[in-house]
Amino acid sequence: MPATHHTKVLIIGSGAAGCTAAIYAARASLNPIMVHGLQPGGQLTITTDVENFPGFEHAVKGPWLMEQMEKQAANVGTKILHDTIMTVDFSKRPFTAVGESGDTYTADSLVIATGATARWLGIPSEKKFAGFGISACATCDGFFFKGKEVVVIGGGNSAVEEALYLTNHATKVTLIHRRDSLRAEKIGQERLFKNPKVAVIWDSAVEEFIGTENPNSLTAVKLKNLKTGAISELKTDGAFVAIGHTPNTELFKGTITTDADGYIVTTAGSTKTNIAGVFAAGDVQDKIFRQAVTAAGTGCMAALEAERFLAGH
Ligand code: NDP
Repeated sequence: MPATHHTKVLIIGSGAAGCTAAIYAARASLNPIMVHGLQPGGQLTITTDVENFPGFEHAVKGPWLMEQMEKQAANVGTKILHDTIMTVDFSKRPFTAVGESGDTYTADSLVIATGATARWLGIPSEKKFAGFGISACATCDGFFFKGKEVVVIGGGNSAVEEALYLTNHATKVTLIHRRDSLRAEKIGQERLFKNPKVAVIWDSAVEEFIGTENPNSLTAVKLKNLKTGAISELKTDGAFVAIGHTPNTELFKGTITTDADGYIVTTAGSTKTNIAGVFAAGDVQDKIFRQAVTAAGTGCMAALEAERFLAGH
């Protein structure tokens, strides 16, 4: 039988932003409810080693880190529910949300922490080597390619930034782009073309990721020149897929202000959205930094801002 839950703070999403918002809201005695969503724990649950989240001497596993964050949120008093929010009504307070379970959530304030999803090429071999040579985050995994050769796939700002970042670690970075010009900002392009460690392969698509099995390890990419149809193979130790992210904002379409790419717009230096009492934290409102630690930081901000909002109402 569907239930109705009321809370002072409803947190949608359970990644680093959601869990941190939950920890802060619970410690402020706001009895928050955190609704897991489709990917409990968020993007960190699909990474392997995490070496840049402060507090750990050695690398920790992404899924383990998220398990800890969730347990911490629960221990301090967050009610965590395995549900996925399907509809929200921001037109009046308390806000109303309905889950896939049929349960209704009413909330005096709301934190959106639904994250973003990295876009993948979608070819079968990509899954096989994800985490075993293929990554979607250079800042997270670049370090593991010290002294090695890598490729970056994509032609936008992310691809260019990732390629430049990877030159700090790798001996050679080859950018593979499907067209003959990049869509990244000119200043980034200039830096990229000037860098002696960078090579660019134009008009080409990755047809297949090639590697060894048991243990899985990427060794090469099979390329197709989209103009000539020519097939070639390029040896590589790592591949970074940087073809964009999709913010998980489908649920809020038409109800909250987003930018042209679908990211929720927040006031500078704040997590406030255009709706009073609704805050957004983590990758759903951040297309620049996209780090677990920045997501956690904005999750903290959202809880503190929700607390202030509730105190004023
Ligand atoms: P973009 O959508 O800007 O670029 C994606 C790139 O990937 C494009 O070059 C596109 O090719 C290519 N691509 C898309 N799908 C495929 C595919 N299936 N196969 C091969 N290539 C593909 O995404 P970004 O993540 O780079 O940027 C998203 C937004 O975030 C942008 O607005 C960007 O400016 C912003 N951003 C800002 C940063 C900053 O200010 N520091 C840093 C990073 C991002 P094609 O060009 O042919 O379409």
